[in-house]
Amino acid sequence: MAKGTIGVTTENIFPVIKKFLYSDHDIFIRELVANAVDATQKLKALEGTGDFKGELGSLNIDIDVDKKARTIKITDRGIGMTEEEVDKYINQIAFSSAGEFLEKYKDKIDGIIGHFGLGFYSAFMVSEKVTIESLSYKEGAEAVKWECKGDPEYTMTDSKKAERGTTITLHLDKDSEEFAEEAKIGALLNKYCKFMPVPVVLGKQKEWKDGKYIDTDKDNVINDTEPLWTRKPSELKDEDYKTFYTKLYPMQDEPLFHIHLNVDYPFNLTGILYFPKIKNQMEVSKNKIQLFCNQMFVTDSVENIVPEFLTLLHGVIDSPDIPLNVSRSYLQEDANVKKISTYITKKVADRLDEIAKNSKEEFESKWDNLKLFIEYGMITDEKFCEKALKFALLKNTDGKYFKYEDYGKAIAAEQTDKDKKVVYLYCTNAVEQYQYVEAAKNKGYDVLVFDSPLDAHFVNLLESKIKDSVFKRVDSDAIDRLVEKSEASKYEISEDDQKKVTALFEEILPKENKYDVKVENLGSDAAPILITQSEFMRRYREMAALGGGMNFYGEIPESYNITINAENPVIKKIAGDAGIASVTADNELLKQVTDLALLANGMLKGKALSDFIKRSEELIK
Ligand code: ADP
Repeated sequence: MAKGTIGVTTENIFPVIKKFLYSDHDIFIRELVANAVDATQKLKALEGTGDFKGELGSLNIDIDVDKKARTIKITDRGIGMTEEEVDKYINQIAFSSAGEFLEKYKDKIDGIIGHFGLGFYSAFMVSEKVTIESLSYKEGAEAVKWECKGDPEYTMTDSKKAERGTTITLHLDKDSEEFAEEAKIGALLNKYCKFMPVPVVLGKQKEWKDGKYIDTDKDNVINDTEPLWTRKPSELKDEDYKTFYTKLYPMQDEPLFHIHLNVDYPFNLTGILYFPKIKNQMEVSKNKIQLFCNQMFVTDSVENIVPEFLTLLHGVIDSPDIPLNVSRSYLQEDANVKKISTYITKKVADRLDEIAKNSKEEFESKWDNLKLFIEYGMITDEKFCEKALKFALLKNTDGKYFKYEDYGKAIAAEQTDKDKKVVYLYCTNAVEQYQYVEAAKNKGYDVLVFDSPLDAHFVNLLESKIKDSVFKRVDSDAIDRLVEKSEASKYEISEDDQKKVTALFEEILPKENKYDVKVENLGSDAAPILITQSEFMRRYREMAALGGGMNFYGEIPESYNITINAENPVIKKIAGDAGIASVTADNELLKQVTDLALLANGMLKGKALSDFIKRSEELIK
C-alpha cells in the first residue's frame, strides 16, 4: 500500500473548499459526471484514431445512490486511470489547481462558483471519504484504488475492479445526508446533466404496480444526448423546436418564434433562442436562457453575456468560448463575450427582419406579443435599434399595422404642420381618450395606439430617430393646435383681464392641481372649455414613474392647460357684452360647462360630481 501527502501548499485546503463553496454544494455532481463524460469521449476518440482496439461495449454512466450506506457511486466506462495517472492527475495536478483556484478567487468566490467547479475535488464538499477505483483501457493495466478522508493524506492500493473505467464513491458526511436520496440526485442530474452527450443512468425506470412503484428492467436514462441545438437546422421541423421548448420550460405557452444559432468562427457557439409571449413582468423573470458548455449546464443567469434586452428570450446557448472562470464584472470586458453578444443581437435582429419580410401577416398577428421585447431592445441597444427601425411596427386605433416608413408616408399629406414637421398622433387608451380620438379622425387624421409601459421612453426615442417628426398624445391640446396648419387668429386680452380670468378658474376648478388658463379662438365648432395636459410634462411625469432617473418631475403637482374658446356660442353667452373677465365664480352656466370639461377628462369626483348632478337637474326642470 502506498501512502502519501497530496502535493499542495495550502495545508487547510479542505476546510477552505467546504467553507467557500457552501453556497453551491450541488455542483459536485455536475463536476463528477462531467469528468466521467470526458473520460468516455476520450475513449471514443481513441477508438476513432485506432489507438483503442477493444470492445467499447455500453458506455453508459451509472449513478447509484445508497441511502443506508450514505454513498453515491459514479461509474463510467471511459479510459480509466493507471496508478501513475491517479498520482499525476489526482494527487498532483487536480489538487494544486483546486488550491490555486481558491487562492486566486477567495474573495470573489461567491459570484463565480456557480460557473466554475473545482473538478474532482468538489466531491469533498459533501463527503467525509472519497474512493476512486479505476482500470485503465491500456493493455495489461492493473486496477488501482485511491482513498482520501478529506485531509491531505491519501492511500493507494490494488483494486479488484475488473471492468474498464472509473468508479468514484462518495461517502457522504452527516451534514450532506440529503444527497443520499435518489430523488434529490435525480433532480440535480436533471438540472445539470440533462443534455450531456453520454447516457447517464440513475437506477431503473419505475412502474406503478399493486399500489406502489417498482423497478422495471429498463435503465432510467436521465439525459438527452443529442439535444436539438446540436443538430442541423435543415433536418428539423417547426414541431421539433416546439417540443424542445416544452422540454426546457414545461407548462409554458408556445413560443412565438425560434432562432437556431450556429457559428464556429471566430468563436464557437450553438443554441436555440425562443421569443416567448411576454404577458407580464412576473413571467419575464421566471424563465431564463440556459447557458451550457459542451452540453454541460453552467448557469441560467446570462446577464453580462447577452445584452440586457435579450435576457427576455428563452432557450439555450452552448459555447466553450465563454470564459467562466472570471468574475462576472470582467465578463463584459472580455473580447469573446463582446463578439458573442454582438453576434446574438445581430442574429435576433436579422431573424425578425426575415419574418417581417417573408411572413408579413404572421408577424403582424404576433406583434402585440413581441412589441415589448422589441421596444425594450430599441431603447437599450443602439445597434439593434438601427435594424429594428426597418421592421418594427406601429399600430393604429383601427388595429392596422404599419412599418415606420410606410406610416410616415401615409400621414404626411394630412398631418404635416406649418413647420414642415409630421405630427404623429397617439393615444394610450382608446376608450378613455375616445372623444379626442374621434375629433382627430373627424379631421382626417390617423391615431396610433401606444399602450405599453415603455411607451413614454419609446416615444422620445422615435422622435429622435424619425426625421422631422413630433409625437403628440391626442388629448394633449386642441385638435387644431396639435397639427398647427397656420397661425390661429389670436384672441386679444389685456394683462389685467388675463389675471381676472385666471383667478376665476382657479376658484372654480379642483384646488389640488395647477392651471395655466388661456382664452383663445378655437372656432365655433370646438368645445367651450378644453382641459389638456402638455405632451412634454406628461411624458416626463410618466418617465419619472417608470424610474427614468427624473424624480424631480415625479414630485411636482399635476398641471393642466385650460383653454377657453372665445368663439364657442356658450362662452359667448356667458361672457355677454362685458366679456369673460367680468364673469364671477357664481355663474351657474360657467360652472356647468367647466364641470362638463372636467367630466370629459374623468376629473369630476365626489362632492363636485354630486353638485354637478343637482345643478343639471335644476337646469332641465
Ligand atoms: P479537470 O477535469 O478540470 O481537468 P479534475 O480535478 O476534475 O479537473 O480532474 C483532474 C483529472 O483527473 C482530469 O483531467 C482527468 O485526467 C482525471 N480524471 C478525473 N476523473 C476521471 C475519470 N472519471 N476518468 C478518467 N480520468 C479522470
